[in-house]
Amino acid sequence: MTDPHTSRLPGLHRRSLAERRALLAQRLKDGDIRPLLNGGLDDALLDRMVENAVGRIAVPVGIAANFLVNGREVLVPMAVEEPSVIAGASHAARLAREGGGFRVRVSPSFTVAQVELRRVVHPGSRILDQRDRILAAADAVQPQLVSLGGGARDLEVREQVGDAHRTVVHLVVDCLDAMGANMVNTMAEAVAPLLEELSGGRAGLRILTNLADRRLAVATCAIPIDQLERPSFTGREVAEGIVAAGAFAAADPWRAATHNKGIFNGIDPILLATGNDWRAVEAGGHAYAARSGTYRPLSGWTMEEGMLRGELELPMAVGVVGGASRCHPCAVKCLELMNVTTAAGLSEIATAAGLASNLAALLALSTEGIQAGHMRLHRRRL
Ligand code: NAD
Repeated sequence: MTDPHTSRLPGLHRRSLAERRALLAQRLKDGDIRPLLNGGLDDALLDRMVENAVGRIAVPVGIAANFLVNGREVLVPMAVEEPSVIAGASHAARLAREGGGFRVRVSPSFTVAQVELRRVVHPGSRILDQRDRILAAADAVQPQLVSLGGGARDLEVREQVGDAHRTVVHLVVDCLDAMGANMVNTMAEAVAPLLEELSGGRAGLRILTNLADRRLAVATCAIPIDQLERPSFTGREVAEGIVAAGAFAAADPWRAATHNKGIFNGIDPILLATGNDWRAVEAGGHAYAARSGTYRPLSGWTMEEGMLRGELELPMAVGVVGGASRCHPCAVKCLELMNVTTAAGLSEIATAAGLASNLAALLALSTEGIQAGHMRLHRRRL
């Protein structure tokens, strides 16, 4: 009998829409998949979510199968308009299963707010001497976050940024299970007058940075090389092709951009399905990719001891509370389907899916080319 919790669902793509929906209903506590059928937004909610609302655009939600993430079976909901993304991620996740699935490490949910100080000269020590007072002033405007165990954790001062009279103060905040943009923006505005007083300068911009380099996720997988065998390619040839494709991206920013787009093919659909701010994660990922001064790939592939090993590292500022994640009925269902209750849990799955999509793209590119599979699926809708 099939394990009722497994994500290994051979032939899912051959089942009818009705059969897939029935299967999904079995995986939800209340069995209610209605929010996933019609987009989940009634007019009242629509009108509250954005300004000048008039309607909605529906995007397909599909299920990527075969995911094993930190030993956990996960059915991954993906909201995406592009064909072959879900098939590719499912295929790559099946290969990764052969090596134990994806391992993902996630750092704490540290979001950083920036306060720009203008017309100041070396205010660093004057600010850092009052560190505890500044952190307390930030915490004072987020009592709920603090009561849950989060809040301001650290202060960094970057003097003379850009020109001799600008200093930038970084306020590091543990946002727990929220993405945190609104919360840290409020904190940045709250501490700005105190920073002006201490520095003798004028506060300029007060907003988070999307270069969330204190909130990183690292996903790895290892695939037995013989599993990569294709009709016209040995497993070794395929693995060598994937390693070479990674090296090409590392050497060439034009290629790296497309390499990283393939990674976000796996990440963005999960963020969209769960009501997360995918623009924020995209901005963070691309800024992180360029942190050395040259735009580089976010993942790399190596071969050792009969295994193809992949690693993806990027900032992953996501939330399971806040934003639209708790108010959009579709997002609530998608989080429930993955059995995700923490930001870290969602980061793990999204990062694993990014690595899976990267593998799927490089696998196709290194063998028969991307068009054979992609255009077969694309033609179905033309
Ligand atoms: P939010 O404003 O909804 O705040 C989260 C709320 O959840 C807080 O009130 C917090 O106290 C509460 N909360 C309850 N349980 C919690 C828990 N376990 N952990 C953490 N908080 C908990 O949302 P946010 O996360 O501060 O901001 C996200 C939104 O900000 C997104 O909609 C994003 O699009 C938007 N935004 C983004 C940017 C940017 O990325 N540049 C800028 C501005 C706004």
